[in-house]
Amino acid sequence: MKKPKLNAKIITLYPELFPGPLAASVTGRALKNKIWNIETINLRDFGKGRHKKVDDKPASGGPGMVIKPDVIDAAIKYSLRGNKISTKRKLLYMSPKGRRFDQNYAESLCNLSEITIICGRFEGIDERVLVKNRIEEVSVGDYVLSGGELAAMTLLDCVVRLLPGTLGNPKSKDKESFCDDLLEAPQFTKPILWNGLQVPDILLSGNHQKIYEWRKEASENETKKKRPDLYIKYVEKKKK
Ligand code: SAH
Repeated sequence: MKKPKLNAKIITLYPELFPGPLAASVTGRALKNKIWNIETINLRDFGKGRHKKVDDKPASGGPGMVIKPDVIDAAIKYSLRGNKISTKRKLLYMSPKGRRFDQNYAESLCNLSEITIICGRFEGIDERVLVKNRIEEVSVGDYVLSGGELAAMTLLDCVVRLLPGTLGNPKSKDKESFCDDLLEAPQFTKPILWNGLQVPDILLSGNHQKIYEWRKEASENETKKKRPDLYIKYVEKKKK
């Protein structure tokens, strides 16, 4: 049997949510073709007592519940099965306090052979388990979700489409948005004339050099207009 390139393990209270949207389209095909594999670890299985309790009141009092450190720790131990965290094996916690997930970060993850992703719920998880296991916190943006599952799916979708063999044409990811800090140039398909709007002539010229130049300029203009913050980064890098 072919060994998957990436083994994703998800620690969650809602294992039934996975693979969810990841079973469709590009990531779904890659799952079927064993380019990656997904295993869910039900946090409830590590809960305490008759009710399999996973959470408790904040130590300081106040609203909400916090996931207990011993419960998460047991799930992590199960996930690692005696293996150590290494350059090939990472432990992540989806958290609004984490490093912001972006395309560069996704690229840095696609050489891993194993990734364990912890999805929080309620007010989050006890800080001590993060310290003990040196867990990296990852955020999908400056907003608060009700759980880490959608965030984990976002991260996985992005990483899986970068794995060799996932995209039919590997070139489709070469000039995408965020590559070289630029957004992609506008895209067009048939019909050539639609609703009184014409596909730019140059794109139909068959002249690859001219098309390349047009796309490059359009890409810069698009970035300048829609993401001035990114454009500044691009210009700064170009100066170096
Ligand atoms: N009390 C926390 C928020 C808890 S939200 C705080 O103020 O920081 C519940 C869970 O949703 C978190 O444990 C985390 O796993 C997930 N989550 C919420 N927002 C997220 C984000 N922007 N990125 C990644 N995970 C997020």
